Amino acid sequence: MLTTDAVTESRLKIPFHRSAMGEEEVQAVSDVIRSGWLTTGAKTLQFEREFAQYIGAAHAIAVSSCTAAIHLALDAIGIQPGDEVLVPTNTFTATAEVVTYMGARPVLVDIDGGTLNISTSDAEQKITSRTRAIIPVHFSGLPCDLDEIHALAKIHDLHVIEDAAHALPSSYRGGKVGKISELTAFSFYATKPLSTGEGGMITTENDAYARRLRLMRQHGISRDAWERYGEEGSWRYEVLEPGYKYNFTDLQAALGVVQLAKCDAMLQARRQIAGKYTQAFQSIEAVETPVTHTDRESSWHLYVLRLQADRLRINRSQFIGELAKRGVQASVHFIPLHLQPAYQKLFGYKEGDLPVSEREYCRCLSLPIYPTMSETEVQYVISSVGDVVDIFARS
Ligand SMILES: *Cc1c(COP(=O)(O)O)cnc(C)c1O
Repeated sequence: MLTTDAVTESRLKIPFHRSAMGEEEVQAVSDVIRSGWLTTGAKTLQFEREFAQYIGAAHAIAVSSCTAAIHLALDAIGIQPGDEVLVPTNTFTATAEVVTYMGARPVLVDIDGGTLNISTSDAEQKITSRTRAIIPVHFSGLPCDLDEIHALAKIHDLHVIEDAAHALPSSYRGGKVGKISELTAFSFYATKPLSTGEGGMITTENDAYARRLRLMRQHGISRDAWERYGEEGSWRYEVLEPGYKYNFTDLQAALGVVQLAKCDAMLQARRQIAGKYTQAFQSIEAVETPVTHTDRESSWHLYVLRLQADRLRINRSQFIGELAKRGVQASVHFIPLHLQPAYQKLFGYKEGDLPVSEREYCRCLSLPIYPTMSETEVQYVISSVGDVVDIFARS
């Protein structure tokens, strides 16, 4: 066990996230700048093509964020004001806020205490005659039970839009997430497994949805700027719908193409870190390691440790504080949406409404996990967690 002084001396600083951009990305962006074409163009088309191929999806439509992706997906399935959409409470606000963009109501659903993903049985309880869709979120990268969700959706005639912001690449029963449901949304935000700084992608097998998504991401204009100004283009265009400004740029696509080529190697690096964490933590009684399933592969976007409150003299926040003192930055995913003022004010949610999510939220923390972590850093996180447990264990 390290004493506090020894901790201070041997101290490393391990941020919660560090970007995995290298010289190749710098070069790729520079090439786009030199090409003279910065916004949606050939590079974006290349990235979409390669992304679709990687997932095995018929269509991949690049957009400005995962938030935009889910919003456009709701538009594509024709969500109307007054409709209800099932959303897990354990997610980022983006998943639910876009439902309100449509004048529809996000109906928050409790989670499974093991996987921390949406509870299919609680979702079933919350279905009404107005329910039109369900947005399962693959929390931390571990796929939801998609067979159960699709069975429920079939019985109640619901659309399924997957929020795969964490799930690149994840797989469920041998198939990559992104080709399983009718629409899947990915995030390329700075901290996500594949990053373009900001950005998102929607995959679909449905040709009509793909057409609608491409139309609506760029003002409802019938032809992309690239085609309009390209060699065979002309000045004429038509505005078919009042759309959105959700397009992707070639600068982002340059990053995306390079990052996509590294995607499997980055997964391998995260998987190894997760393996080391679990190996080290599974024998510590005061903590619980993440649930895994033999029929699913997680992207390991997050490594979520859960504390056994009755075995520790400190709570989760204090535990995070102790890690911070040792130079290890942990985080929490997520504060349940039904505890947030906006959803309480708009929809009347209150503490106690979704008890499983509250119980798990109070005892979870996310540890650093990213491809640029060195072996020394991984071991330092492990020894820091062990140290905090040793010092604050209840005897
Ligand atoms: C990050 C995140 C989003 C939003 O992604 P953006 O690309 O930043 O819009 C949506 N859902 C979940 C679960 C996320 O973690």
